[in-house]
Amino acid sequence: MTRTSTEANALPRRASENLARANAPLEKVALESYVALAQPSLIGLSRAELTDKLAGIGVPPAQRKMRVQQLWHWMYVRGVQDFDAMTTISKEMRAELASHFTVARPEVVAEQISNDGTRKWLLRLPSGLAGEKAHEVECVYIPETDRGTLCVSSQVGCTLNCSFCHTGTQRLVRNLTASEIVGQIMVARDRLGDWVSSGAAPQGEGTRRLVSNIVMMGMGEPLYNFDAVRDALLIVADGDGIGISKRRITLSTSGVVPNIARTGAEIGVSLAISLHAVRDELRDELVPLNRKYPIAELLQACRDYPGASNARRITFEYVMLKGVNDSLDDAKLLVKLLKGIPAKINLIPFNPWPGSVYECSDWEQIEKFSEYVFNAGYSSPVRTPRGRDILAACGQLKSETEKLSARERQALRAMAMTD
Ligand code: SF4
Repeated sequence: MTRTSTEANALPRRASENLARANAPLEKVALESYVALAQPSLIGLSRAELTDKLAGIGVPPAQRKMRVQQLWHWMYVRGVQDFDAMTTISKEMRAELASHFTVARPEVVAEQISNDGTRKWLLRLPSGLAGEKAHEVECVYIPETDRGTLCVSSQVGCTLNCSFCHTGTQRLVRNLTASEIVGQIMVARDRLGDWVSSGAAPQGEGTRRLVSNIVMMGMGEPLYNFDAVRDALLIVADGDGIGISKRRITLSTSGVVPNIARTGAEIGVSLAISLHAVRDELRDELVPLNRKYPIAELLQACRDYPGASNARRITFEYVMLKGVNDSLDDAKLLVKLLKGIPAKINLIPFNPWPGSVYECSDWEQIEKFSEYVFNAGYSSPVRTPRGRDILAACGQLKSETEKLSARERQALRAMAMTD
């Protein structure tokens, strides 16, 4: 088979990039840590932490439980943004709360709405370093007929450096706090008008909200920010508040094996694995963390994942890279490896980004691959393009805020895909 000039150029580039990556540390160190605000937000605190805060401002012990319940309701069912709107709380107490705390979420600096209804919000988060400009993360909402999915970020930048991912090329700036993670969902509900309006009955199981599903698939590796992600997701799933069932929350990891069991035990949400390769040699290149936790260990953690069943399958994400991981032999080995794991496979056509060394597989090859895994008994949806016009693609969430040329942006926009 003759090679195209693009492929011929890509090979030496890939070789030198692989060498650079082989010498790079597997896990990046955060440049900053979060610096608490003088007047902190109560969003993202557990009930126990809220109780402590109330104790700290002198709320008598006998009142604390009731006050926490009231706050929880106003924050997470009604979505109010001001203590003044919490009308079941006495005026004096509201003033006291407002003098110490806020119920602020991340500031929305831009909102884009795609022709297909996909929405993207650019959110501003404070920097931990004096003089450093504020950080920005993005949060994407994808409406479908039967659900509305919000893609949420867990870090500014990412601990890891997966070679096909644009975020992997960025520094790890810092972990998001639980408040900033829950805040992304609050922002989406604010902007979509998705709160229970005052006077209406609070939502019960089965009440349809616009944000019905959460995927931790935005910027960052959630299992390297485990505590904040756990605390945030437990708040999001709390039935007396935001109330998104754990079955409708999916955490996607590149394979931080020790924290996979903890995810099952301490959070209990659905699991997705960024697999992308079926041989260690290749996965070492695509997802360098594989050198620490190779495929066999990762799949054993999936076999042991509490709660996985045919009704609740583990999703395996597989980005389709032309001539790299998309052969029929790869498909066969994939099916073999996943034997015994309740699994579904998400095939993701690759979105090239400026500087990436990979190309997207040909459509015909994606179909062949998909057909093989489907015939072997696995659901294998190919992610359909969404939000192309606003660049809502996983791993590229922050691309538009980086310094890209107009041409690069256009290329990215044309290829943007997300689930
Ligand atoms: S794929 Fe996920 S874990 Fe890997 S570099 Fe990108 S954001 Fe980080």
